[in-house]
Amino acid sequence: MNWMKTLADCFLEVGAQYPGEPRMLVSDIDGTIIDMRYLVLSVLQSYDEERGTAYFTRLRPSDVTVHENQIEQLLERLAVPASERSAVVDWYLERRWEEDTILATHRPFPGVFPMIRWFQLQPNTSVGLLSGRPEKLREVTLQSLNRLGDTHRVHFSDELLIMNPGEWDKDVEAIKIAGLQRFQDQGYHVFAMIDNEPSVLEALAPMAEGTGMLLLHADTIFESGPTSIPRGTARGNNYGLTDLVASEEALPPNVQLVWHGVNDEDNLRQFFASDVLWAEFDIRQNSAGEFICRHDSFEVTPALPDEVWLYFERVVREIFKHNRAIKLDLKGGNDVLDHVLEIVIDEGFTEDRLWFNGDIETTREEGFRRIRAEHPDAIVQCPIAWLSPLIAAAPAEARKTLEMLTSWGISRFSVDWEHHLAHEMFDELVSWGYEVNFYSVPDLEAFLQAVLLLPSSVTSDFNFPQWHRYGHGSGKEGRRIAYAIDTEEKG
Ligand SMILES: [Mg+2]
Repeated sequence: MNWMKTLADCFLEVGAQYPGEPRMLVSDIDGTIIDMRYLVLSVLQSYDEERGTAYFTRLRPSDVTVHENQIEQLLERLAVPASERSAVVDWYLERRWEEDTILATHRPFPGVFPMIRWFQLQPNTSVGLLSGRPEKLREVTLQSLNRLGDTHRVHFSDELLIMNPGEWDKDVEAIKIAGLQRFQDQGYHVFAMIDNEPSVLEALAPMAEGTGMLLLHADTIFESGPTSIPRGTARGNNYGLTDLVASEEALPPNVQLVWHGVNDEDNLRQFFASDVLWAEFDIRQNSAGEFICRHDSFEVTPALPDEVWLYFERVVREIFKHNRAIKLDLKGGNDVLDHVLEIVIDEGFTEDRLWFNGDIETTREEGFRRIRAEHPDAIVQCPIAWLSPLIAAAPAEARKTLEMLTSWGISRFSVDWEHHLAHEMFDELVSWGYEVNFYSVPDLEAFLQAVLLLPSSVTSDFNFPQWHRYGHGSGKEGRRIAYAIDTEEKG
């Protein structure tokens, strides 16, 4: 079984066994959270720079296959002259644990911070750190981890970091045993411990057996030789949320979820089969002047001869009948707006079930003001990818623009998850007190990461076969998401 799935099961078991009591996941740092290959690479390349040599110019992180304590082997493989190896090693050892090096070169394994965030968000749950690094590195360790964790809203506190009271490599196994004991003495049910060193896991095995604690081996690069991994240890090298989070029910309840682009019959059926409250429809007129659900304009994607449309009035009725909520993406100017406003009033939607979205150049000030006047408590939103460079480069100017937009009646700003400034924009918007929606999340992993940042809402295709959610997508550029038939399930 996937190690993250095993971890999720173990977490639930401990919760059922000790309801309401504090639980803790304990993690090692180096080789477990931090991918040490980047540090090795960067310190070696700084040697080249200093000495004018070129041994490591072409080195890639994936070329670093040795533990950070064993770089002599790497130098040999790279054909660094024997006469120079000890100088390189000296350089490396002198610099690798300097504060600047730690702050500049440490990189996390992909997915590890989202996993930690997940546990930090769970009730009565903490994540403790247990490291062989000496105490003298306490401050810089916290500083670097918290800087790296910041974009994921991960924060580590001083009290939950246990380090080596002595010098490097002083009986790491004993330090880990004593550290776990300390967390337990503080009243935590330590349900799992992650480490990349087999010798550490071996030393912890008796404790794990006694307490039901799960051991996880981060199968990255480790120093201790081919000792055996204790029985029952879960093993993997891919962190992630996809296997950790089983369904929508486990998500933070305050983040509104929206099924994106329910513009065809199949997608509508999939939406109704889910528990998702909000359905988004793209509303535009066809050449006959009828109001239909279609993502693309007819200029971008001409109509197919046999194209079948969902008619707007019908979907509004269906959504109301099923007691769901509707997000109306206005793909046209005044004509579309007139019609949409009329129909939703006729149908009798309450304000808490209504959400309007429009591009500013389509809906314009006048349109937004009309929506707000008629629906004082509905969500009114516009996407703001066009504003991202300004938010990054001239935030005060960007803020003025946002204030203008809120004066039109806009209450929520929509941020493209795949935009390279998405995290930065989200942080700024939230710090200014604005509501944020994320859209364009490509898959379940990204969707979960977005939800765990706790924005006001996330709009997604729900193309999550892992959850038996088979959203088709909005039909952007005439495409629908296709699924391979799951033969196992059909049995
Ligand atoms: Mg380690």
